[in-house]
Amino acid sequence: MRNLVRETKLSAHDFVLPLFVSEKLQERREIRSMPGVFQLSLTDSVQEAHRAAELGLQAVLLFGIPARKDEQATAAFADDGIVQQAVRAIKAAVPDLVVITDVCLCEYMSHGHCGVTRRDGEHFHVLNDESVELLAKTALSHAAAGADLVAPSDMMDGRIGAIRELLDANGYEQTGIMSYAVKFASVFYGPFREAAESPPQFGDRRSYQMDSANAGEALREAALDVEEGADILMVKPALPYLDILWRVRERFGKPTAVYHVSGEFAMVKAAAEKGCFEERAAVLEIMTSLKRAGADLIVTYWAKELAEWTRN
Ligand SMILES: [Zn+2]
Repeated sequence: MRNLVRETKLSAHDFVLPLFVSEKLQERREIRSMPGVFQLSLTDSVQEAHRAAELGLQAVLLFGIPARKDEQATAAFADDGIVQQAVRAIKAAVPDLVVITDVCLCEYMSHGHCGVTRRDGEHFHVLNDESVELLAKTALSHAAAGADLVAPSDMMDGRIGAIRELLDANGYEQTGIMSYAVKFASVFYGPFREAAESPPQFGDRRSYQMDSANAGEALREAALDVEEGADILMVKPALPYLDILWRVRERFGKPTAVYHVSGEFAMVKAAAEKGCFEERAAVLEIMTSLKRAGADLIVTYWAKELAEWTRN
């Protein structure tokens, strides 16, 4: 009876699997704070994409870890960059799998910030417009490699419009944009920085990520991205921001994604290991809450397990 009247149903189609592809690795390496999540070599990433498709998942989200970082993030937009190579290899091997690429500069910058920085003594500034130019170049290189969707996660102002314009001008009208429209400065990103090797070397990211206290600002940020041409809006992190997710979905009626982030993942893993509850039941309850709150797409490190757990 409960199944007959259930309002929210999960399936493999709801989930997006993040993959960390490292130019430095020959074999996979487990991320210490995220049990069961690995940095992958290029070859492993193709295998993992295969596996994802076999399980019924529709999409992967790629993050790159370059061999070299510099002050201009040149590896982010290099033709033979690690993400560009991975996109080509995965699209060749598993053409039906939707490949989404994270577009940011932090993994490629020697200082670990999401944009170009200028330092004045004690203070540093992230230069918005210079950063947007590099982000658009990066998105274009991903589209050229075959990405179906580019996903800018930097939170600079005006980047969605700049990316849309550059993609269109180069014949990539079909490449979509999944915007990290509402990304809060959050303590829950901790483990990801180990995974993507991108902790800031000085300062923090509060000058460009949002204050968790601001819901009105979240809607204004999302509205700008809609105007500039975003196809999918994302809210990040997930559980502490269900109200924002709900409002974004209701207000704009756009396909809406949510990112259940590394710290949220690590918390559940740790609690399950201590015997506080059963991992699977906890994950299913969390994912149901995200979908109920309006998520069309859920980026989660449990995507593969969920594809199996939600089979019937
Ligand atoms: Zn970043």
